[in-house]
Amino acid sequence: MTTERIRLFGIEIDPLTREQAVDRVYAWIENPDGKCRFVVTPNVDHTVMLQHHATFRKAYDDADLVLVDGMPVVLASRMLKKPVPERVTGADLTIDLLAAAARKERRLSVFFLGAADGVANRAVNNVERTWPDVYAVGAYSPPIGFQNDEQENDRILAMIDSANPDILVVGLGAPKQELWVHAHQDRINARVALCVGATIDFLAGEKSRAPLWMQNYGLEWCHRVMTEPKRLAARYAHDAWMFPKLVWCEWWYDTRA
Ligand code: UDP
Repeated sequence: MTTERIRLFGIEIDPLTREQAVDRVYAWIENPDGKCRFVVTPNVDHTVMLQHHATFRKAYDDADLVLVDGMPVVLASRMLKKPVPERVTGADLTIDLLAAAARKERRLSVFFLGAADGVANRAVNNVERTWPDVYAVGAYSPPIGFQNDEQENDRILAMIDSANPDILVVGLGAPKQELWVHAHQDRINARVALCVGATIDFLAGEKSRAPLWMQNYGLEWCHRVMTEPKRLAARYAHDAWMFPKLVWCEWWYDTRA
């Protein structure tokens, strides 16, 4: 299967398997060229938001790796005859990268940026216990609104600079994490930044992922909305209304192209 990018809902997507995505990221880590690459993982919510959010779209356009996180987006890609080989969630990619350190016989350095106060530090403990070849060179949970505070941004960038990680795990939620990484890409001293939502919470044991059977049936969103109904119910209702329209429009344009 080709690894050439697929255009779907206006997003350039990399049709890679989990294994290919891990190899791509390790290639960047092992052959640094002074640039911080960044990875985004579209789900239904991102796909809907991108249609009317210009700076979020620009961040997506400039991303180095775009992997489909949401099962409905994977299913839509198959229906529209532009299939991605499999779902690659931000959380799975992060875990696969950490787990691969031993196999690749390399000490992997990681910095965690995001999640509520103290959560990133708990993620560090769990990660270092689980994967002895991974060492955390920093963890920081920035205060609400930090992205608008120039001094705070400088402080965070200085922390990352002196830590010099292979991987910067950014868990600030969308679109904040993508916008922050995109805006500061030239100043981030890491080989690769992963924009991966609640992954730091999962690694810390703060939030639990859906059971595997739910993930396999594309029902992870259902689990998330049940665990955080206040935050997510209205958003998911809006997305459930908008996403089928996007699929229909994409099909309509494709059949007329
Ligand atoms: N978060 C953060 N700072 C913020 C907003 C959110 O660190 O200003 C963290 C939050 O604590 C959680 C994660 O971002 O760990 C939210 O990730 P999720 O994927 O659930 O967010 P979504 O993209 O669905 O909004």
